[in-house]
Amino acid sequence: MAVIKADAYGHGGVNVARLLRGRAKRFAVAIIEEALVLRDAGIVEPIVVLEGAHQPRECALAFQHNCILVMHTQQQLEWVRHCEPDRRPAIWLKVDTGMHRLGFAVDEIEHIVQAYHGILCEETVLATHLACADDEQSGATPAQLAAFSKVAAQFNFPVSIANSPATILWPQSRRGWNRLGVGLYGSQPTAGNVNIKPAMTLRSSVIALRTVPAGDSVGYGQTWTATRDSRIATVGIGYADGYPRHCPNGTPVVINGSKAELVGRVSMDMITIDVTDIPTVSIGDSVELWGENLSIDEVARHAGTISYELMTRISVRVPRIVRHR
Ligand SMILES: *Cc1c(COP(=O)(O)O)cnc(C)c1O
Repeated sequence: MAVIKADAYGHGGVNVARLLRGRAKRFAVAIIEEALVLRDAGIVEPIVVLEGAHQPRECALAFQHNCILVMHTQQQLEWVRHCEPDRRPAIWLKVDTGMHRLGFAVDEIEHIVQAYHGILCEETVLATHLACADDEQSGATPAQLAAFSKVAAQFNFPVSIANSPATILWPQSRRGWNRLGVGLYGSQPTAGNVNIKPAMTLRSSVIALRTVPAGDSVGYGQTWTATRDSRIATVGIGYADGYPRHCPNGTPVVINGSKAELVGRVSMDMITIDVTDIPTVSIGDSVELWGENLSIDEVARHAGTISYELMTRISVRVPRIVRHR
């Protein structure tokens, strides 16, 4: 199952849904509004809505638009029960095995299944979500997997457990529907030894070049001072595009095939790069902020965050250009 919530992690939900058509058997989004955008664009595959319905009217919408709602509260189940019997959306049941964010408690689920048997369907899957799947050492995942197995053994439902890190690090979690998000886009936040290619390359270009004498500073707040006469390239991307303002001096970018370092603060529309050691740089040259030649995970570490946040924060100002490779 391809998780394409948050505009397919910033890649463009409709683009990605079209590319994965016929390859992913199913799509997943967080909220029904995201599914409606896909339906408007002509995407017809069933879509799982991971947060289920937030209001009763979303149950009718889900039925109308062939969406599957993941139920995690009794109130949501009541909303579905109150739909006309032949107009009830398909539902999944979410079990809270330890993440404590969404889902029915482990000791509650048997009662829920009995009480709402009449609105379950062939599609109904028992799902859970792992809190620490990206940590090979954590005892939390074995505990969650054990709790889930115990629950699942009581019934005959298909199951859904794994997210991207779990598919890499916890093979025993790969059962039934695997919910692949970030891995699909080629980020590898976990230690796992899997070679995946980034789908997204974020690029801009050099819009100005100057020499800054040793002792002078660059950018807002003068947070970086040249220790030698330096060539500084100004690049047309900033935090309004989704390039993180938290990136410190030394964050890598790639220009003309070489790594160079961010110097000075990230502005709204521009950043400044020390290109003293890359004499070939000229105005108009393409600059890669992350992607093909520079791992988004490495940039995320500099910014003190994770690739997920970098991807999903690319703003509407940045055109998404689809290249088939
Ligand atoms: C977002 C999400 C996923 C996908 O997670 P990745 O780590 O990006 O693979 C899977 N399951 C649920 C419930 C989610 O919310």
